[in-house]
Amino acid sequence: AGLLGQEEAGEAQVTDAARVKVLLPYPFAGAFDYLAPPELALQPGDVVMVPLNRRAEVGVVWDEDPALPPEFRTPPSPPVPAHRLKPVSAVLDVPPLPVASRRFVDWVAGYTLTPPGLVMAMALRLNAYDPVRAVVGWQRAPSPPEDARITPSRARVLAAMPEGAAPRETAELARAAGTGAGVLRGMAEAGLLVQVPMRREAAFHRPDPAHPDAAVLSDDQQANAGMLRRAVHERRFSVTLLEGVTGSGKTEVYLEAVAACIAEGRQALVLLPEIALSSQWLDRFTRRFGTPPAVWHSDLGSKQRRAAWRAVAGGEAWVVVGARSALFLPFTDLGLIVVDEEHETAFKQEDGVTYNARDMAVVRARLSQAAILLVSATPSLETLTNAEAGRYRRVTLAARHGGASMPSVAPIDMRDAPPGRGLFLSPVLKTAIDATFARGEQAMLFLNRRGYAPLTLCRACGHRVQCPNCTAWLVEHRARRILTCHHCGHTEPVPPKCPACGAEGSLTAIGPGVERITEEATAAFPEARILVMASDTLPGPHAAAEAVRRIAAREVDLIIGTQIVAKGWHFPHLTLVGVVDADLGLAGGDLRASERTVQLLHQVGGRAGRAEAPGQVLLQTYTPEHPVMQALIANDFASFMRREAEARRPGHWPPFGRLAALIVSADSAEAADETARALGRAAPRGEAVTVLGPAPAPLAILRGRHRRRLLLRTRREVAVQPILREWLAQVQPGRGVRVDIDVDPVSF
Ligand code: ADP
Ligand code: ZN
Repeated sequence: AGLLGQEEAGEAQVTDAARVKVLLPYPFAGAFDYLAPPELALQPGDVVMVPLNRRAEVGVVWDEDPALPPEFRTPPSPPVPAHRLKPVSAVLDVPPLPVASRRFVDWVAGYTLTPPGLVMAMALRLNAYDPVRAVVGWQRAPSPPEDARITPSRARVLAAMPEGAAPRETAELARAAGTGAGVLRGMAEAGLLVQVPMRREAAFHRPDPAHPDAAVLSDDQQANAGMLRRAVHERRFSVTLLEGVTGSGKTEVYLEAVAACIAEGRQALVLLPEIALSSQWLDRFTRRFGTPPAVWHSDLGSKQRRAAWRAVAGGEAWVVVGARSALFLPFTDLGLIVVDEEHETAFKQEDGVTYNARDMAVVRARLSQAAILLVSATPSLETLTNAEAGRYRRVTLAARHGGASMPSVAPIDMRDAPPGRGLFLSPVLKTAIDATFARGEQAMLFLNRRGYAPLTLCRACGHRVQCPNCTAWLVEHRARRILTCHHCGHTEPVPPKCPACGAEGSLTAIGPGVERITEEATAAFPEARILVMASDTLPGPHAAAEAVRRIAAREVDLIIGTQIVAKGWHFPHLTLVGVVDADLGLAGGDLRASERTVQLLHQVGGRAGRAEAPGQVLLQTYTPEHPVMQALIANDFASFMRREAEARRPGHWPPFGRLAALIVSADSAEAADETARALGRAAPRGEAVTVLGPAPAPLAILRGRHRRRLLLRTRREVAVQPILREWLAQVQPGRGVRVDIDVDPVSF
């Protein structure tokens, strides 16, 4: 081991072997040096306790990543002199963070320009390192002392534990005896009880790849499943796009890849965009493999979280289905990642560490020499472009399973037959719904907007009721008699008169939300049993699961919902989908709006129709000639995406160039402007680089903060990270001004 620099000469010499780097869960530039007491035998990945500013902190022993791209590296800080180093205090009883997880943390931190400690904090999932207390149980002492005092509560404990019975766990025994743990301890001291360790129930079982209830795949499915299985058996990094229309059996087919991965003895991870809405998925998995997977999302209680974390680290959890943060779990040997609905923007995390889980999943797979499947009926332009360039393999399921046809899609031109003032359902759509009910089938109305009305306007003075904290209108929720902001949560009662001019009875609801559509549908179809599916009407996974059960059991005729209904549900009796406002997502200047609208509406439409009952989708639109509507009507996603590509290629817009956003935010418009202008002046220049802005951010005021945006656009071959780093180093943000970096923003 080499010696430290000149300045340490004469001091107690500390060899490199005695130093160790520890990454702490804070926004420092890198890991800190500590002394490594030899008796701790520290290894990279160990979760340790270290002193920091007179406090004890939890960190992870870190090692250098030789393969990290140089542009992701932060310059190293000068070494701390040996006499100032403090020793690591202890190693915690937590499985170490595996090397692939550590390299993943470095990569995500480098790519997103986030301090590595903050990314590591996600990997450590904080409370996962609480030491697990050994589960202890109580048993009757084999030969209790004759003279021990038996109080009434002690008698109840003994009664709850017959002679020779198996030991009972503390809380459970205390509950059964109607007493507390103190009584049990007292009885142990008195020699009446003995404490015995209890075996922890294994939380997860190995899914059975050859479970007898697996679906019998069609020839086409079988051939495609074979390609995916081979990718898994290669035991090396590969990316495969699995595409196929809704209902073609993509899930059945990728579950075969999961089975192959288990058979290989490696772990598998399935990422779903909305894990809370996946009760049907979990049921299918359990049927296929005879046991449920481990589930991971941010709403898990700390106990479940700890159990899942340890089960993954211990290799006891074979398959994890989770939200994006599951990428940071300590898999010991990850062999397969599936990103289902890979085009979904829900994979982008916008707060805290800003990262796209779809893209980072590809990195995670590479670091583990794993196969990754990107699954979608309507793949993102990024993924399609990679597939067409030959960087990704491509597996296509051509048709719906069992000979079912795709739903027919037709526009309803709202210019021809406007529904009338304050109404939103056209006569054509209402007739189609009636006909569906007459056949004993179900219909669905889709509108991606919660509440009653998106805007409240004064008919006397034209005042629009705005959020006091955001550049946004307040949305009326009539059932709760409130106006609320969907961005910051600000809520106020519906005012009795106009807050601006004081006119009474002049406030009018403008435009529809699902609540208002429900009101109209109730009047139009008084006999129909209506169910509303929106995130505020179905709080929590159980409510959604119950709603889906009622639909499948035909307890519902008409479903009215927001984007929740677009998830991969199977509603076997649903044959008509009416899109209330197909133009909704196209407003605004976002370059990606068309792509997103096609993806969303295709997915909603895909809920309609199965083998026995063909489906129909009706799009209410004022622009039936729009390429988005034409693509949906012709069911021609491929040509649409080619046009999208041609629109983005010349300007080097993603995926043909790279993009990063700087969001400047401050309490005052002046402070935000000042820093934004300083960034503008310091903007990088060059042939391959363009900076757009500063301009007001898409939400110019959010939660009371004024926001400006600058966009950095570069050619594909240019890395944005060093440019951003150099750029930001030149500008000192004003007091209270934040500059947030968003590499690969989802809207632009
Ligand atoms: P996708 O993910 O492409 O929408 P799924 O895998 O969810 O398609 O399949 C659609 C429906 O068809 C599901 O109800 C599924 O159980 C059924 N299905 C697909 N393939 C088969 C098969 N080989 N045997 C039986 N049912 C199948
Ligand atoms: Zn607001």
